Amino acid sequence: MKHLIFACLAAIALLAACKTTTDTANPAADDLWANRDTTISPGDDFFMHANGGWIKNNPIPASESGWGIGHLVNEELYRRKLAINEKSVKENAAPGTVSRKIANFWKAAMDTVRINKVGVAALQADMNQIDAAQTPLDLVALAGELARKGTGSLFGYYITQDDKNATKMVFRLYQGGINMPNRDYYFDTDSKTIAVRTAYKDYLLQSLRRLGMNEATAAATATEVYALETRLAQASRKLADLRDPYKNYNKMAIGDLQKQTPALEWAKWLQKANMKGVDTVIVGQPEFFAALNKELMSTPLPVWKAYLKFCHLSDNARYLDDATYMESFTYTKAITGVAEPRPRWKRALDSEEGAMGEVLGQLFVKEYFPETAKKRYSDMVETVRDAYKKRIEALTWMSDSTKAFALDKLAKMKKKVGYPDKWKDFSALQITDTSYVANMQAAAAWWSDYNANKLGKPVDLDEWEMTPQTYNAYYNPSLNEIVMPAGIFAVPGKRDEEIDDAWAYGNVAASTIGHEITHGFDDQGRQYDAAGNLKNWWTKQDEAEFSKRAQGIIRQFNEFVPVDTLHVNGEATQGENIADLGGMLLGLDAFKQTETYKQGKAINGLTALQRFFLGWAFAWMNQIRPEQLATRLKTDVHAPAKERVNGPVVNIPDWYEAFGVKQGAKMYRPDSLRVSIW
Ligand SMILES: [Zn+2]
Repeated sequence: MKHLIFACLAAIALLAACKTTTDTANPAADDLWANRDTTISPGDDFFMHANGGWIKNNPIPASESGWGIGHLVNEELYRRKLAINEKSVKENAAPGTVSRKIANFWKAAMDTVRINKVGVAALQADMNQIDAAQTPLDLVALAGELARKGTGSLFGYYITQDDKNATKMVFRLYQGGINMPNRDYYFDTDSKTIAVRTAYKDYLLQSLRRLGMNEATAAATATEVYALETRLAQASRKLADLRDPYKNYNKMAIGDLQKQTPALEWAKWLQKANMKGVDTVIVGQPEFFAALNKELMSTPLPVWKAYLKFCHLSDNARYLDDATYMESFTYTKAITGVAEPRPRWKRALDSEEGAMGEVLGQLFVKEYFPETAKKRYSDMVETVRDAYKKRIEALTWMSDSTKAFALDKLAKMKKKVGYPDKWKDFSALQITDTSYVANMQAAAAWWSDYNANKLGKPVDLDEWEMTPQTYNAYYNPSLNEIVMPAGIFAVPGKRDEEIDDAWAYGNVAASTIGHEITHGFDDQGRQYDAAGNLKNWWTKQDEAEFSKRAQGIIRQFNEFVPVDTLHVNGEATQGENIADLGGMLLGLDAFKQTETYKQGKAINGLTALQRFFLGWAFAWMNQIRPEQLATRLKTDVHAPAKERVNGPVVNIPDWYEAFGVKQGAKMYRPDSLRVSIW
């Protein structure tokens, strides 16, 4: 939500060759057929009926917090990225070339001998500067300098389009400063949260020791740093309270903010962070900044210094020696349930992705995303758009004036498929083969400067917020666009033409394209107009009708209890659940226009309609550790995978028809309880 884009881990099919004729010679190679658990009736638990066979046969690896279709695709993407890096090292291209940057990065990140020898001394110059701070104002200035190097502390910030004037880029401030995933971790009393808290306190203490504090000082300081973070958490808004774009939009002159927060010298912070020309700021949560200001004046400087050093160490731990990294990993284990770290080569690829993924992406699409694939999915967007147009026109609860705006917005929605038309220019980024942490800090500074450079300039309409090799997609309301990187279409070991239409429409058209498009019209997206401005275009009555219908889906999802006594947060996940229900309907409408559907031929005994719904379930084929599931229920605006399958289908008559689900089945919902929005 940081950039207010709706990123949605959607998925794609992996499958065997299936012609649209009849049964294949080898149904076991048809994943939709083979992954089922036929001992479970579709009407009792559709998710487990569709995916139970695969789940039984594919336990979660020790290094992962969950395992499913997304991981299979990501494994494939890892293999492809590794091949590109190794090829670049072999090439030994001229300095400054894309290939040489990749090669240098790879060599430095994989040089564990050097990394272990240097240890935390790699950060010593920064730590000395923190030690030398004389006043809280010095500390705030240093926080600005470290922010440019990628270390988060004190508060969150970013440069983005102004919600109320989509042509302008603005500086936004957000609550932050805490090191656990969100404010609830400091207060909730369920056993999983308590375990995370305990692990975090241990990690804090160990880190202060590692930074050279003696035992007694480290223990006392860790307690005080934790108390400081708890007070910041107390002043932070809850997840559901961050959804309202108006309440989290407080525009003011930087001079006025300065008056309200005298302990934060904004001019100095901005100068150190290399951000020029900031005269106006949008403050997300003013009460948080008031609390931070108070803390800067009242909390002793040594506590603040220890806090900042810890933030810096913690944010760089992944690029440091094994012992430092393992302390950080031990803490995150309590959050994710993962027993062991991923292998180093995968962690290095993850870092490379964040540092300069678009550099890698240029080499990736050359190898793996042909023009034919780009055309297939571009065309699919248009069939789904057409299906949505017809649905909006037919809505009985929406007024004609709101419909006119909606249709205009839909027609103007831009699509980006595969990879950018114009690549970012990384030539100023210096990557050496000698220091992993220095490369990561250089990349953080490149990104910070890149974003700062947008201030006061027109919005770049061609920019992508994800790299081409990303397995994900998003809708960005400020640009009214859907963006689908090449990675979302990647199929391990398979060619695109091997995917039958029912499957492709269940996966791509419904779970990705339809889902993303409806985000432009849901509880958040509908507050932006066709040009991307935060401007309401709904009548009061239509709003009330939409909210009434949304209440139905909130109630439906609140009923789910995925682990222990923890419920799905129906309110916080409503946008995603509405998008899932809408996406499924749009994908289905679009599928009904295809020859495959019209011919009505079964494949391996599965009808076209059954394959469409199984294709959707396949998109969410996933299992997850209970610790990670508990974490996700608190932090993720998406419902868990199982509920994303079983939640929407029960609202759709075609699903009942496809699988012959009748009253008495566990999932059966009477007409009166079925949710209908789009
Ligand atoms: Zn979404």
